[in-house]
Amino acid sequence: MTTSCVRCSTPASTMMTFDYEAKTVWLVELKRDPAAPHGYPMCVDHADRLSPPLGWTLTDRRNVTRLFAPVEVA
Ligand SMILES: [Zn+2]
Repeated sequence: MTTSCVRCSTPASTMMTFDYEAKTVWLVELKRDPAAPHGYPMCVDHADRLSPPLGWTLTDRRNVTRLFAPVEVA
């Protein structure tokens, strides 16, 4: 199953989830956490550029070693 980024057509590797009450945004690995609720799939590029709303906390729970990072195409 391939999930596409919500902002572009690139295959997503990250799931963005959030909690309004806690004002927290999480980035998790799509393959590790397929059942993450209220998620928006994102590619690495868009996930890396994501900035949370003012007053919110961004928590990156992805694995820092990107074994399957896509190759940049110029
Ligand atoms: Zn994208």
